[in-house]
Amino acid sequence: MAPTSDDAPASAHRKGSTAATEPSMLELSHVQQAAIARLAHDDVVIPPPLQLAREAVLRNDAVERMHAQSDPEGFWAAKSQAVDWIEPWNQVVRFDPPEHEWFLGGKLNACANCVDRHVYSDRRNKAAILWVGEDGEEQAYTYNRLYREVNRFANAMRRLGVRKGDRVVVYMPMVPEGIITMLACARLGAIHCVVYAGMGTEALRSRLVDAAAKVIVCSDFTFRRGKKMPLKPTVDEAVRDLTAVEHVIVHRRGSRVGDAPFQFDSERERDFYDIQHAREIHCEPEAMDSEDPLFILYTSGTTGKPKGIVHSTGGYLVGVTYLARAFYQIGERDIYWSTSDIGWIVGHSFIVYGPLSIGATVFCREGVPDHPTPDVTWELCERFGVNILFTAPTAMRMWMSHGPEVPLRYDLSRLRLIACAGEPLNPEAHLWSQKHLVGQSGGFVVDNWWQTEIAAPVLGTLPTFEARPGKVGKPLPGVIADIVNAHGEPLPDGAGGLLVLRRPLPYMMRTVWNDHARYEAYWTQIPGCYAAGDIAVRDKDGWFAVLGRSDDVLNVAGHRIGTADVEGSLLRHPSVAESAVVGLPDALKGERIKAFVVLKPGASTGPGLVASLKDHVRQDLGPIAQPAEIEIRTALPKTRSGKIVRRYLKAVELGEDPGDLSTLAD
Ligand code: AMP
Repeated sequence: MAPTSDDAPASAHRKGSTAATEPSMLELSHVQQAAIARLAHDDVVIPPPLQLAREAVLRNDAVERMHAQSDPEGFWAAKSQAVDWIEPWNQVVRFDPPEHEWFLGGKLNACANCVDRHVYSDRRNKAAILWVGEDGEEQAYTYNRLYREVNRFANAMRRLGVRKGDRVVVYMPMVPEGIITMLACARLGAIHCVVYAGMGTEALRSRLVDAAAKVIVCSDFTFRRGKKMPLKPTVDEAVRDLTAVEHVIVHRRGSRVGDAPFQFDSERERDFYDIQHAREIHCEPEAMDSEDPLFILYTSGTTGKPKGIVHSTGGYLVGVTYLARAFYQIGERDIYWSTSDIGWIVGHSFIVYGPLSIGATVFCREGVPDHPTPDVTWELCERFGVNILFTAPTAMRMWMSHGPEVPLRYDLSRLRLIACAGEPLNPEAHLWSQKHLVGQSGGFVVDNWWQTEIAAPVLGTLPTFEARPGKVGKPLPGVIADIVNAHGEPLPDGAGGLLVLRRPLPYMMRTVWNDHARYEAYWTQIPGCYAAGDIAVRDKDGWFAVLGRSDDVLNVAGHRIGTADVEGSLLRHPSVAESAVVGLPDALKGERIKAFVVLKPGASTGPGLVASLKDHVRQDLGPIAQPAEIEIRTALPKTRSGKIVRRYLKAVELGEDPGDLSTLAD
């Protein structure tokens, strides 16, 4: 659907000509081909608001980009100055594909950068975190308070035996204690591994096992759309036979909201606050090597086994510190809000490390952006004076569905930038947001592309670029991106192909935990390049559009879900013999999950079966992975060697010609 003139903001105009579409050697889906064809004719551009462009941190981003290309080492050396080093580095980068190391020899502590250096400055009493719970509870943490709480908890964990390199799993919702736990781990040099608190038992257990976690820190419950959702039973089930987990530290929120404290029922359980000593407010930060891991964050791949993406300390912190200012434009007096959660990479990089490293004020909230009312986001933006909002296209489409009158009821005149990432931002939602969300302030909506593996923006629309709805933007300084066919040959502008990076970035992953071969695969699919797993197209002016995944990974409401994860979960249901999962287009969430299952002989097919299958996936993996639809079949389409052909199922669902099954190769 082309944007209607009603949706177009006043500042949007049309520019000349488009790029030609070339055939590529990759097999693109019909949906991707249609998107490319549409983009070739979509020529709306939105110029950046004058004020924003004038005040942009990178006013001369072209010079910055040239510097990054002609002298990448000098460029990153300059950016590293924004971070405090305990010992200076002696070499910027060592790149021997696929291995890359940054700021060699340097020592630093990420927590000290995010907390201590502000406490010893004029920011001591500045708000670091302003938090609102779903139930309306509010907390404010100045940098000084944050310092005390992080140090106390770090000391408590140190007393329990947590040391540099130990893995600590964090299963907490968007509460300040979650941020405190991450920072306390970083202080000790322990590797935190946050598992999104909406994930189910099997998802949590498999991550605890893969990371060989020594400790898990969890909350007793979270709120989801007004309901108190217990988290502790999921933890109990997940750790039941895991003897390597020495301590289960429980943040008992119940005691704060007046519930009677529940009894711990195992020796290894501890209370988050009881283990802290009031006067232990100094904990020496560990001097970490630049290349020491800061965290593991699991994401979905194509095999059904979670992929533990490992990020370093030095390169990561330099990257997120630079981009918090240069891309998200977070300034000293801003209130910045990311609607993400600490369970995702956006939460790590741009709720915690990036903004706190630059001493910003971060607003954060537990809960979804349309509960308890569709206007809750705007009420909070007005009340807290939010200047910069980082959100996802699904949220934009949801706001759009409630109509423009909802944000209009609030004073959003301070909201000057909305950044969007996580999934393709469709032109309709982009134009609507530009007109109705930042229309009052004369602000700007910008897209940016990155992923768990590359922990900060790579492609994006800087506030000095024009925005081109449907397109993410251009490569940011330091990035050399290209589009290639399956053989690695560069494709002409306008042709869809694999998105690759020709050079590493300091904020890219260093390995996949316990599985370095899986890391190497990112660099060997197209030799010498990093293949992101996405299909993209570039226009003749260098603007990229990212159209979706090139592998069997789905993107539901900005969350990455492997088809293999959901299929594996269905196979763990006692009635299921075979399963196949596909992603279908969804107007709100981008994609929705449809599953096809073949039952075991004799399995009952009663009316409750589909509900029981859905419930099983929900318990196992979490609500985000629950299929929207499940169809029971007597057989699944397979190649002659017996491989299930998901794309055949998908083509039929989309009303396209699925081709002749008997001729399909494996
Ligand atoms: P995750 O690692 O969960 O953050 O998911 C990363 C994936 O989300 C990328 O590989 C893309 O497929 C998709 N993605 C992220 N940002 C964008 C964007 N701005 N436009 C299109 N797709 C995106």
